[in-house]
Amino acid sequence: MIERTFEGRLFGPGLPGTGAEAVGSWDGQGHLRVAVEVTPRTELLAESPAIAAAGFNAASLRITWEGEAGAYAFVIETDAARAACGVSAPPDIARRVLSAAGSRERLERRFRFGGVLLALILLLPLIGIGVFLLNSDRVADWAVKRIPYEQEARLGDLVLAQTRLQMKILDSGPAVNAVSAIGSKLTTGSLHRYRWFVADRPDVNAFAAPGGVVVVFSGLIRSAGSAEELAGVLAHEVAHAELRHSLRGMVKSLGLRALVSLLTGDASGGVFADAATRLTELRFSREAEREADDEGLRRLVKARIDPNGMLRFYQKLAGERRPSPPPIISTHPATGERLERLRREVAGLKQKWAPLPIDLTSLK
Ligand SMILES: [Zn+2]
Repeated sequence: MIERTFEGRLFGPGLPGTGAEAVGSWDGQGHLRVAVEVTPRTELLAESPAIAAAGFNAASLRITWEGEAGAYAFVIETDAARAACGVSAPPDIARRVLSAAGSRERLERRFRFGGVLLALILLLPLIGIGVFLLNSDRVADWAVKRIPYEQEARLGDLVLAQTRLQMKILDSGPAVNAVSAIGSKLTTGSLHRYRWFVADRPDVNAFAAPGGVVVVFSGLIRSAGSAEELAGVLAHEVAHAELRHSLRGMVKSLGLRALVSLLTGDASGGVFADAATRLTELRFSREAEREADDEGLRRLVKARIDPNGMLRFYQKLAGERRPSPPPIISTHPATGERLERLRREVAGLKQKWAPLPIDLTSLK
């Protein structure tokens, strides 16, 4: 059985601002009759009402018309009343009621689309993981930019602790003082708090851990002919630290776990221990090495340290014939090309240099 009446609220002249409870019904001619529950009970007749969706989310049906006393609106809120209004109406009115309901459905679809958008936003971290796997270079760059310097320094501490397990690290003494004196000239105004160390090892090597931890092997100091030559290597390592190459290398080689740990501020976990032990073997790209050469040279010039020292040391290492090339060369690829570049750059410089007041021969 079809419900012939439908409840709603009527708004109009002489009625409360919040509307009055009313019951509507259609007559055979498509006129709307509205009985209003006020005293005395009033019945209105709307001959050609307009029908539209209304309210938040278009959930209600609004039937409006011009009466003798002014404009009226009959608002139907409940699903049951809306349905009764539709099925009891003559066919052409029923179509208009349906069309108003359709606009509600269209709105609901839009809301569902909004839901999809929201889900996408919530899923972005997961999408990020996918992108990380697909394109770790760019994501590593993205991540490195967001890692605070304090966090990077903590990572440097961790690397240092791991390195101490592997080799004897000198914290003080004349060699450390010499390295620190030269190094501080190259790092004025840096965001890192630099710490300089000497490893008691015969290898010709040096490395910059994240966060401004620089370790120079005693073998490198021994093979440097002057403080300027040592400064050349330090400038290159400092440049790696300034450009955050080591941090980037660790983030890249460790992947997502490191990324999450670093971004959430937990760099103390065991995630990094392994990478820390492998840092001395970390290989930078050819491009990173070129960048470090350029930035290192720029820092030497700024500190008025003769860059011919850097050039001489590179030439010496490149010319050395050993069963295996010195690590600083083997882990820094494309030496010939880099040497040529550096030669050209240094030849173009016309500055006056201030000799470093450090005597390496007495150190050895
Ligand atoms: Zn390098």
